[in-house]
Amino acid sequence: MMQRFSCPFCGPRDETEFFYGGEAGNERPEPAENISPVRWAQYLHMEKNEKGRAREIWVHLTCGEFFVMERDTVTHEIFKTEAFHGERT
Ligand SMILES: [Zn+2]
Repeated sequence: MMQRFSCPFCGPRDETEFFYGGEAGNERPEPAENISPVRWAQYLHMEKNEKGRAREIWVHLTCGEFFVMERDTVTHEIFKTEAFHGERT
C-alpha cells in the first residue's frame, strides 16, 4: 500500500521519496561503560519494540531535509510532521 508522507518543506509526497532515520528523542546513552544495565536495557527495548504512537526522524530524499514525523507504528496513521532542528550526521 503506497502512503503519502507530508514533508514540512515540500508538502505531501509518495513514501518512496522518504527514508527512515530513527526514533526521535531516544539517543544512545554515553559513555556506554558508565550506563547502568537497566538504562541500557531501556534504550535497547525502546529502540526495537516501540509500538503505537512514536516520534520518528525521517529524511525527505528529494530536498535532503530531516524532519520529525509523529505516527502510530501499528496503524501507520500520521498525526503530524514538523521540521527537525537536531544534529545532522
Ligand atoms: Zn522535502
